[in-house]
Amino acid sequence: MVQSSVLGFPRMGANRELKKATEAYWGGKISQEELINTGKALRAAHWKIQKEAGADIIASNDFSFYDQVLDHIQLFNAVPERYRKYGLDAIDEFFAMGRGLQKPAKDGKPAVDVTALEMVKWFDSNYHYVRPTLQDGQTFTLAADPKPVREFLEAKAQGVITRPVLVGPVSFLHLGKPDRGAKVDPITLLDSLLPVYEELLTKLAEAGAESVQIDEPVLVLDLPEKTKKAFGPAYEKLASLQGKIPKITVATYFGDIVHNLDVLPSLSKAAGIHIDLVRAPQQLDEVISKLAPGQVLSAGVVDGRNIWKTNFQKAIEIVQKAVQTLGAERVIVSTSSSLLHTPHTLASEKKLPEEVADWFSFAVEKAKEVSIIAKAVTAGPESVRAELDANAASMNSRATSKRTNNPAVKERQAAVTEEMHNRKSAFPDRIALQQKNLNLPLFPTTTIGSFPQTKEIRINRNKFTKGEITAEQYEEFINKEIEMVVREQEALDLDVLVHGEPERNDMVQYFGERLDGYVFTTHAWVQSYGSRCVRPPIIVGDISRPAPMTVKESKYAASITKKPMKGMLTGPITCLRWSFPRDDVHQSVQAQQLALALRDEVVDLEAAGVKVIQVDEPALREGLPLRAGTEREKYLDWAVKSFRLATTAVQNDTQIHSHFCYSEFQDFFHAIAALDADVLSIENSKSDAKLLKVFDEKAYPRHIGPGVYDIHSPRVPSEQEIKDRIEEMLVSLKPDQLWINPDCGLKTRQWEETRAALKNMVSAAKFFRAKH
Ligand code: GLN
Ligand code: ZN
Repeated sequence: MVQSSVLGFPRMGANRELKKATEAYWGGKISQEELINTGKALRAAHWKIQKEAGADIIASNDFSFYDQVLDHIQLFNAVPERYRKYGLDAIDEFFAMGRGLQKPAKDGKPAVDVTALEMVKWFDSNYHYVRPTLQDGQTFTLAADPKPVREFLEAKAQGVITRPVLVGPVSFLHLGKPDRGAKVDPITLLDSLLPVYEELLTKLAEAGAESVQIDEPVLVLDLPEKTKKAFGPAYEKLASLQGKIPKITVATYFGDIVHNLDVLPSLSKAAGIHIDLVRAPQQLDEVISKLAPGQVLSAGVVDGRNIWKTNFQKAIEIVQKAVQTLGAERVIVSTSSSLLHTPHTLASEKKLPEEVADWFSFAVEKAKEVSIIAKAVTAGPESVRAELDANAASMNSRATSKRTNNPAVKERQAAVTEEMHNRKSAFPDRIALQQKNLNLPLFPTTTIGSFPQTKEIRINRNKFTKGEITAEQYEEFINKEIEMVVREQEALDLDVLVHGEPERNDMVQYFGERLDGYVFTTHAWVQSYGSRCVRPPIIVGDISRPAPMTVKESKYAASITKKPMKGMLTGPITCLRWSFPRDDVHQSVQAQQLALALRDEVVDLEAAGVKVIQVDEPALREGLPLRAGTEREKYLDWAVKSFRLATTAVQNDTQIHSHFCYSEFQDFFHAIAALDADVLSIENSKSDAKLLKVFDEKAYPRHIGPGVYDIHSPRVPSEQEIKDRIEEMLVSLKPDQLWINPDCGLKTRQWEETRAALKNMVSAAKFFRAKH
């Protein structure tokens, strides 16, 4: 019999109960016990859902109050002393590592002041994990009352025998880093870590666990030799414990493992190997051919990263192919990864067009999908005829829908030429004309776009959404905000002004709502980090722009000042990456459609007299394929092209800006340069001048504004601090290419600190202007 499995379930709950409870706990509004009970109730509900959906193999220990890697840091007692020394309750220590903790002394307990551990992106997803942060001479021991055992028993008491999921030893170490000042190479700690896995796995077996899922997602990356070599001793050690510990399935996801297949012999004693056949279907044959005798293949055919219904026919074909070679007992139908990256249930969406809702499948629905596919293969298609027919009808509806296919968009894409990706002249000619036109001083000052999003703005937006105020009243309110922001900037004597973005709730949703081809959900939240969730819009079809999206506000802003006004757009890659993309056409096609829509917007802005236009691409970097090489170069090629297609239709004297919220450009500096933007503004103050190091090595030929202060903190930087920053920049950059601006948009700040910080920034710029 072909079994079905789910690698992990989203934790937040149908109504983000987990987010609400954790935030209430942090705010002192509920007790620790109440929080713990919420977690328990959510786990119980999620196991029940999966069981009722018919999934044979259900995970436990996929739940976390913050992040599953952070759970393991505590589970292995790899908690840095700066947290441990306070003797906090386990859960408070856990949150202290996740988000930092600052509290005054109370009831004889000392004051606590400790920052969070580093948080980084989980592979190429929008989820973030807490990085294991390790010491020289790091030791590991198993925490008392280990969470995986506790949660296994919890499910067992409920009548569900789960498969606990653990982060594997090699991935745990590879994803970790030495603590500040430490020199340890994490992977060298393997020998001290393995006994803890042994103890934990033994305890799980004693508790009744028959199998465990050990995640080794690093197998999809380019790995240094020493990391690859670590799989041998790690899994030989676990193999030697056979009989005493549960059977192991090693899970990989988000890519193929073909380039690391030489690791498979080390895993030959594992009962099963899981691979992601949604992201990397091409690996099937090769992986099958390298399986050890009797080893089970867990075939990830239901997408754990997106919201589309699985095409049953295609999935069944893939599974059948595996069954032909391996036999039904050696194949498991599975989600491609944990469902952590999908929203909870489609049942909550009451506002989606019916036609479109029929195309989606969220976590609850995907748990049913794996079991239907398994049944179809085991008992034949007739056993699930109704489900297969309904699925085929949904596939057909989506493929043939007018929403999916817009012939006008396709025609326009077919007519895109190479020249459409180029500005009329090269940068030196353009910048001369722009200077003449804009008449800017040396070290021009500007901001990144948004100004504080005050409570008043949110109240008015809500009123407008609910129909409590009219469109005219709302427009009047927005215009007043814009005018205020313009006057503030004039008073500060900034050089290139912005309208402040008061009309925008979110930099992607705002554009999505104005484009054809998008739909929006009301409950489709996915965890981004800790208690933070995002609700990405969904690209359902060919994208086009029915009408200008930002011209009204920018034109108004430009009309009330003599200073140059900068128009503000979100770039094609960011619109794509921060949405759920289509899975029926390549992402490059979707990016090109977005680019064409933005191209029209750029031209309209220019015609409205807006001669400086910024196209933000903060998501460009996160789209980078996980492995270096051709795939990465291909991505950069189409990503850069889509930015250029969006921005190059303007006259030479119109100035194109772009903005990035990070400065790790080492790997793709050539692509940033290839954008051919006249001016870049870039995060610089958090990342110890990594950016400037790049410029030391490679001369950047155009204008650039590395951020002079961190906007994530309410702290006001002094004029001297900013001067020091600029001085630092002048080591690598020339005075006539340097712009002075903050790191990012100011929407999360208050007005008071914003004014004070910008005042110091403008003074610092003027100081250098006088000097040069
Ligand atoms: N223009 C946007 C803003 O200022 C940019 C935001 C971002 O880079 N994430 O808010
Ligand atoms: Zn930014």
